[in-house]
Amino acid sequence: MPRRPASTIRPTAPTAARRRPGRPDGSLGDRLAAVRRGELPTEPLPVLRPSVMAPVRRFDRPGPIPGNGGLHPLTDGSANARLQAYDNRVKESFDRIVPVLKRLSALQHESDFVSQAQELARTELGYEVPLPILERAWVTQLDMRSLFAWCLFETYEQLSASFFQEDPLQGQRGSPAAAAFERFLLDCGFHLLDITPCADGRLAHAIAFALRLPYSAVRRRPHAGALFDVENTVQRWIKTEHRRYREAAPNPAHADTRYLKVVLYHFSSLDPQHEGCAAHGSDDALAASCGHKRLQDFQQAVENSFCCGASVDLLLIGIDTDTDAIRVHVPGMDGSTNLERWLDARDVYEATRILSPEEGRRRIHNLVEQAATATPDPGMVRLIARLLENNIAQIDYVRQYYAGHYSDAGHAERFIGVGIGFKEVHLRNLTYFAYMDTVEEGAADLDVGVKIFKGLNVSRGLPIPVVIRFDYSGTVPGARDRAVRSAWRVMEAMRARYADLVAEGLLHVLLTVHDQDRLEPAEAVGSTISFETVGGH
Ligand SMILES: [Zn+2]
Repeated sequence: MPRRPASTIRPTAPTAARRRPGRPDGSLGDRLAAVRRGELPTEPLPVLRPSVMAPVRRFDRPGPIPGNGGLHPLTDGSANARLQAYDNRVKESFDRIVPVLKRLSALQHESDFVSQAQELARTELGYEVPLPILERAWVTQLDMRSLFAWCLFETYEQLSASFFQEDPLQGQRGSPAAAAFERFLLDCGFHLLDITPCADGRLAHAIAFALRLPYSAVRRRPHAGALFDVENTVQRWIKTEHRRYREAAPNPAHADTRYLKVVLYHFSSLDPQHEGCAAHGSDDALAASCGHKRLQDFQQAVENSFCCGASVDLLLIGIDTDTDAIRVHVPGMDGSTNLERWLDARDVYEATRILSPEEGRRRIHNLVEQAATATPDPGMVRLIARLLENNIAQIDYVRQYYAGHYSDAGHAERFIGVGIGFKEVHLRNLTYFAYMDTVEEGAADLDVGVKIFKGLNVSRGLPIPVVIRFDYSGTVPGARDRAVRSAWRVMEAMRARYADLVAEGLLHVLLTVHDQDRLEPAEAVGSTISFETVGGH
C-alpha cells in the first residue's frame, strides 16, 4: 500500500426451524385471501423456495500480508483470521448453488436423474432438493428459477441456524465481549449506541467487522442513504428511557448518561463518482450532510417533544466501502459537527503503526481531541478512539485478505432482506436490507434493492430472492401471530408491486419470523415457491 500523507485532517473531497422440504398444499391465493380477512393460515404454509444464479463470486483474490510483513500493533490477527474464515464459509455456501445447478441441469435427461441429482445436491450443497421439482423435469424443463430460489432460502436458513446456535461472531447477548462493551459504553457516558448505516449490502458487516462491536450491544437499523425514520427512532428513545425508569437498565434514569445516535454514510475511494451511495447519487458530501440533517431532526424532535432538558448525542461517521476505513466527524461538546472536517482511520493507522499498543492508544486519543470541531466531550473522545482502534484491525483485514481494497467494488448481494430484524446477517455484500413495517413506507428502499438485483440476477435469468422477516417478542401474547400476518401482508404487497417479475418466476419470497427473546434460528412460515406453480407460469 502506498503511504499516505501524514496530515490527519483533510477537507471533504469534491466528489464527494429447520426447513423441511416443502410439500404440496393449498393455493397461495386462498391463503392470501385468508390473511386479508385477518385470519391466520391454519395449516402449515408452503415452504418451497425459489431462485437462480448467485452473484458472480468475486472473493477469490488472496491478498498479500501487508507491507513490512506485519500487522498493526493494535490488530488482533487471530480475530481477523476467525472473521475471514466465517465470511468465506458463509459466502461459499451461497456461491456453490449456481455451479451445482448447472451440473444438475446437464443431468436432467438421464434416466436416473432424480437419484443422481439428490446425490449431487447432498454432496455439494449438504442438503437434498425438493422432489416434486426434480420429478417434473422429464415433462418440461427443470425449473431452475424455483430451484435456485429454494436452494438460496435453504442456505439462508442454515446461516440463521448456525448464527444463533454457534455465535460465530462471539457477540451474543450475555457474551463476555458484549458485557465488556456495555460497561465501556456506560463509562463513556452513553446508555445506548444506536447506529444507522446505509442499507447498502457493502455496509452489512459494518458493526461486527468494520467497527468490531459485539452486535448485541448495539442497535442497528439500516436505511437507504442512512436516512433513518425520525419518529420510529423517537419511539425507541422513549422505550429506552422508560426502561431506565422502570428497570434501571442498563442504568438508572438519574445517571448522567445519554442516548447516542450514529449515522454511518459511505463513499468509494476508488470510484467516487459511481460506487458511492446510490441514494445520494454517489455524492459523499451530500450523503454526509443529509445524514447530519437527519441526526439534527432527531435531536430536535426529542428536545421539542420532551421538556426537562431531554436530548440525545449525535455522531456522524463515513466509511469507505473499498477499504472499510472510517472517517469520524468528531463533534464538540456543544454538539457542533463539521461536515468538512474529519479524522481518517487510515491516517490514524499510519500515525501509530510503529508505536507500541499503549503509545498508539494515547496517540489516537490525542488525534481525536485535535480533530474535534470544538472542545470535545471526554467520553465521546474515548468512544471514538475505541472505534478507530477497532477499525485499524479492519483496515489490516482488508489488506491481508483483499490486497487493500475489495475486488467487488460494486454490489454483489445474495438476497434482499425485508422487514424488521436480521440480527444474524453481518457479512459484507450478503444482503440488501429494506427495513419496514409495510411496503408502503419502505417502497423507496425496496425499489432500490429490486433495481440492484435486476442487474445482479434478473439480467442473467435468475430470480430475485427476498427474505421477509419480522421479529417479535415471545413474551407478548399474540405477537408471533401478528408477526406472521405482517410478513404475509408484506409479501402480498410485493407481489402486487412487482407483479411482472413474480409472474415470470423472477422474484421469490421466503417468509420468516423470529422470537427476539430467544437464541433460536429464524422460523420459515411460508414462501412463494409452491409446487403447484413449478414448471408453469
Ligand atoms: Zn448507500
